[in-house]
Amino acid sequence: MTTEAAQEKTGLGNYFVANYPPFSSWKPSYLPDARAVLDGPPAADTPLGLYLHIPFCRKRCKFCYFRVYTDKNAREVETYIDALVKEVELYSKKPIVGGRRLKYVYFGGGTPSYLSASQLRAMMDRLKAALPWEGAEEVTFECEPGTLQQHKLEALRELGVTRLSLGVENFDPKILEYNGRAHLEDEIHRAYGWARDLHFDQINIDLIAGMVGETWDNWKQCVVKTLALSPDSVTIYQMELPFNTIFSQQLKVIGQDAPFPGGGVADWPTKRAWVQYAFDEMGKAGYQVSSAYTLVKDKARCKFVYRDSLWHGADMFGTGVASFGHANGVHIQNVDSWEQYVALLDKGELPLGRALPVQDRELLIREMILQLKTGRLEAEYFRRKFGEDILEDFADGFGQLEADGFLTRRPDGVELTRDGLLQIDRQLPAFFEPQFRNTRYT
Ligand code: SF4
Repeated sequence: MTTEAAQEKTGLGNYFVANYPPFSSWKPSYLPDARAVLDGPPAADTPLGLYLHIPFCRKRCKFCYFRVYTDKNAREVETYIDALVKEVELYSKKPIVGGRRLKYVYFGGGTPSYLSASQLRAMMDRLKAALPWEGAEEVTFECEPGTLQQHKLEALRELGVTRLSLGVENFDPKILEYNGRAHLEDEIHRAYGWARDLHFDQINIDLIAGMVGETWDNWKQCVVKTLALSPDSVTIYQMELPFNTIFSQQLKVIGQDAPFPGGGVADWPTKRAWVQYAFDEMGKAGYQVSSAYTLVKDKARCKFVYRDSLWHGADMFGTGVASFGHANGVHIQNVDSWEQYVALLDKGELPLGRALPVQDRELLIREMILQLKTGRLEAEYFRRKFGEDILEDFADGFGQLEADGFLTRRPDGVELTRDGLLQIDRQLPAFFEPQFRNTRYT
């Protein structure tokens, strides 16, 4: 196989860039830096958000590499919720809060909707007592359709959730099953109907292009069915095969070139064509592109405050096992084992696992590569915030993307072409500082 053909095959590993510098450079030895910023005042004009990781799922999807548990009993779930509430209480007393109100809250997972309505009510009342989120611009809650009942959605609506994100991924029962998803197609329609009737501000649907067994015909059906639901936003990821997943274990047994039982994983050009098709069809239906992954029905109304705040350098307390956050120039990640997480909180300590103080140059690069995922950069924003001219500083990187047909340079910024936006994650390492370019990402 030529190098080019090998690059286009969906091999093991991932391209997705969630943060910068790469996680592999975050170390326990930097934890004193994390503690120092948490004990100091916030930077001026920096919004604060809260991420809460709910690490339970009904079963493990075969492509999943997140820290999730499928075997915890009700007592253990209570133990975790207690620990999570304690963590938020500890953060609420830190000087870095500095009187700031939360701008956004994000319940991610795992499957936050795995919790029962009564567990959710009890947990959220305690969380709000510690760190109030009245006035937050957005409270997002991720859901797995098969875990939702009408009364649970009513509870979420009452508790102030504004943005419901439904992990649909695909509509075909066989594809859902091959990929280890726990929900069924009927459950998607039922949950969506209840959520619509309850008038959440925003409902997002997540899809994955290129799940095992995906075909052109089925993907077109997925797009038709998504449009029929008419969600406020649609987020489409391209399937990857990260290490440490059920699929990666299977590949070790059956060999990297053998198809999985249930079908293969499409190559990158096919997955990009599927995303392009979905963007085109949704565009015809009036949706607008808001990032490399997301389309929204109405840009003026459908904000994604969590994403845009993070991509513009906001602070965020990342709570829950293995969660990561950012405070005043320092990346922070929690310990990644259940036992350590619970034990540290039992002792009244924040469960910090590793950190990285980020230099100004790297903060600039971080914002630049994350904002590139929206399809454009405004040079003036970086001049004002960092005193740097990115068009001059990164002329070589932008020039290369332009030569490849992925980007257009303008006097006031850059704009990605559609082709560039479809494969932005694999282009981003070119902007990394040399010491981070060829290192492991996670
Ligand atoms: S529902 Fe999400 S977090 Fe849970 S196993 Fe599947 S991909 Fe992982």
